[in-house]
Amino acid sequence: MRILIVEDEYPLADAIQEILKRNNYTSDIETDGENGLNAALTNIYDLIILDLMLPKIDGLNILKELRTNNITTPVIILTAKSTTEDIITGLDSGADDYLAKPFNTNELLARIRALTRRKDKIIVYNLAYADIELNKNNRNLLCHTTGKSIKLGEKEFLLLEYLISNQKLVITKEQILDKLWGNEGLNLEYNNAEVYVSFLRKKINFIGSHVKIKAVRNSGYILEVDHDK
Ligand code: CA
Repeated sequence: MRILIVEDEYPLADAIQEILKRNNYTSDIETDGENGLNAALTNIYDLIILDLMLPKIDGLNILKELRTNNITTPVIILTAKSTTEDIITGLDSGADDYLAKPFNTNELLARIRALTRRKDKIIVYNLAYADIELNKNNRNLLCHTTGKSIKLGEKEFLLLEYLISNQKLVITKEQILDKLWGNEGLNLEYNNAEVYVSFLRKKINFIGSHVKIKAVRNSGYILEVDHDK
């Protein structure tokens, strides 16, 4: 579970991150609207905590832009603005929930649980591509051709989930670093992405699937079905 915090008050952003960390959520902070929007558009987050008054692009416009781009990540608006009208505007713009500052920590955590639970309910289905099926609950990868299965590690799971969800697109190594490590990925070398692609290829081969992670020269990876394999 990875959460994006878009908040221009540094102490508050840090405090939220600390609360999340203590409750086993990984999070990234962006402190202006432009970076916040760009981060959210990567679609690697499971939830976004969004301030409204932000430098460069305000929260409502970020929200509209996300929904226009079919990014359905749940968004909790966190703001000092708390008139009924503000709340209605926020919800109409595509927010899933609204919390006025100053907020109660337990209330924030309860809302995060509620929204991510709702998301889990919607997306608890197995992801499938060609002859493989990925179980989102236990990270088991099954090959229908051979009946063999194997459990994926957390990062291998995230990687395959990402490739299957974007199966017609070439996924760059940069996107893989983003997806697997978030902001920590900024300091990582591309070979970290390559290592996990290689782990995942080995597991796909092990279960005897026709699926191949094809390397696209100078750009990244894409899923492919190889019937000669
Ligand atoms: Ca603000």
